[in-house]
Amino acid sequence: MRHAPRANTYRDAWAGDLSADRCGTEVRVAGWVHRRRDHGGLVFVDLRDRTGLVQVVFNPETAPEAHSAAHALRSEWVISVRGEVVRRSEETVNPDLPTGEIEIRVVAVDVLAEALTPPFQLDEDVAVDEALRLRYRYLDLRREALLRSLELRHRVVAAMRGHLDPQGFLELETPILTRSTPEGARDFIVPSRMQRGSFYALPQSPQLFKQLLMIAGYERYYQIARCFRDEDLRADRQPEFTQLDLEMSFVHEDDVIAVSEGILAAAFGAAGIELPLPLPRMAFAEAVARYGTDRPDLRFGLEIHDLGAALAGTEFKVFRGVLERGGVVRGINAGAHELSRAELDRLIEFAQSQGAGGLVWAYVEEGGGWRSPVAKFLGEQEIAAIGSELGASPGDLLLLVADDEGTASLALGVLRLELARRFGLAAEDDWKLVWIVDFPLMEWNDDEQRWDPLHHAFTSPAPGALDLLSTDPSKALARGYDVVLNGTEVGGGSIRINDPDVQYRVLETIGISRQEADERFGFLIEALKHGAPPHGGIAFGLDRIVALLAKQESIREVIAFPKTATGSDPMTGAPAPVEQKQLRELGIKAEGEAQT
Ligand code: ASP
Repeated sequence: MRHAPRANTYRDAWAGDLSADRCGTEVRVAGWVHRRRDHGGLVFVDLRDRTGLVQVVFNPETAPEAHSAAHALRSEWVISVRGEVVRRSEETVNPDLPTGEIEIRVVAVDVLAEALTPPFQLDEDVAVDEALRLRYRYLDLRREALLRSLELRHRVVAAMRGHLDPQGFLELETPILTRSTPEGARDFIVPSRMQRGSFYALPQSPQLFKQLLMIAGYERYYQIARCFRDEDLRADRQPEFTQLDLEMSFVHEDDVIAVSEGILAAAFGAAGIELPLPLPRMAFAEAVARYGTDRPDLRFGLEIHDLGAALAGTEFKVFRGVLERGGVVRGINAGAHELSRAELDRLIEFAQSQGAGGLVWAYVEEGGGWRSPVAKFLGEQEIAAIGSELGASPGDLLLLVADDEGTASLALGVLRLELARRFGLAAEDDWKLVWIVDFPLMEWNDDEQRWDPLHHAFTSPAPGALDLLSTDPSKALARGYDVVLNGTEVGGGSIRINDPDVQYRVLETIGISRQEADERFGFLIEALKHGAPPHGGIAFGLDRIVALLAKQESIREVIAFPKTATGSDPMTGAPAPVEQKQLRELGIKAEGEAQT
């Protein structure tokens, strides 16, 4: 820590800050018994505070009282010790410990609190069952890895704030008890006691409030905002998570992108990583064609290629059939990796699990021919044309999918990631950021048989897109932008609609009538009629950014008190049934058995 503690009866120095230049002086340190070694004669304790560890030594000869107290000490007891900083003898220097050159020769010890035996080891980075970790999160938080991740989280947030303040951004809070917000997930709702039968919704994001702040003329807003979405928690989500949310007035896409890049550079800087700017940009359609996703991981190649031209007029029934019914044949050059038949079968199963009918494999031989189950069905020229499209060399493994476009693209996109994982192609400390732009405005929701906004309904259509809404909404583009880091979306935003008629039009396209629009978002639409400047913004997934920078797989590793995959907190027992009396006050009857 940067500042020495204010000296008091407990401490006048941080344990982890002590070094040889304090030798010969007396210090007081306070913290937890990290480890204790009793050698019969001397007792050694590693004392831990937030800054680190220091070894303290109890000597029966020089401090008999402290020494006898030290016999009783156990792991995680809270103590304060006073003693002299001394240099360790050459053989006992610990080069792995920042304070390993010195130790404290204890004069006096105060036991401030005893502790139960911890349910898991805190002094070593051992694997512990996550349910147990969450049940005793305050102990888990004592462990080094989690502490470092949360320190990093703090530094990232501080860097973001430090970057935004000088640029005139106001940090403002928006309500937690509010009305349904439109991010497309299910709301958490909170019953109102004073207005029985009515409910608040927790915000899925501050989207509408930040737009209202722009209409109010606040120009530049940001917030470290908690967002709540009641979704099934597959894929490492949390029911509540944190965004860096911002909005600006009188701006175009480039303005928001420029501010965003500065924020990202500041956040990366806080983790000691230099980010070269500006970041590259890629159109949505290109990302999907080349990588099978709008979240491409650009740390490795393995690009998807369309083989339609190479196969024009093919006699091979399977490929011809797919192409004739408007499907595609696409492929990846997986490189020179010799896989066993069993491994190839697993790749086929993998592609099928992604919905593809099958996966064709081919090994390129010397001379350009193929060793492949389909080699005999393809002409020499076709094999050569596919080879040249995929940049194939002898030894390379080619993987092809013939299917409708969406399925082929998705399957190859996921296969690409799987291959990179198997072949170890994605370096952990390679940071590939890319803006995805030119998003479609709408996407077809097959289950509901209607158009959904790809981002959200307040995103401005691109020039010319409005006319397409009545003819072919699939072709309408949006003024949206996402930023993707190593295959994960870490931020997204858009230029917003600032014209109430356009807002109605977009809502109508997604099946929300004027009347319903007025009921649900009337306050925003009305505000748009009171002089709304052009405005736009973005939100960054703070948990995800910190997790990536901390090289943690899960955002739970960078959240002090996260929830499990079923949205519960094993420590507090939330969510929990409430008293009948509370329900009565709210005018609510709980259906079914409460789960305890
Ligand atoms: N409110 C959006 C979200 O949470 C971000 C934005 O458009 O600024 O995804």
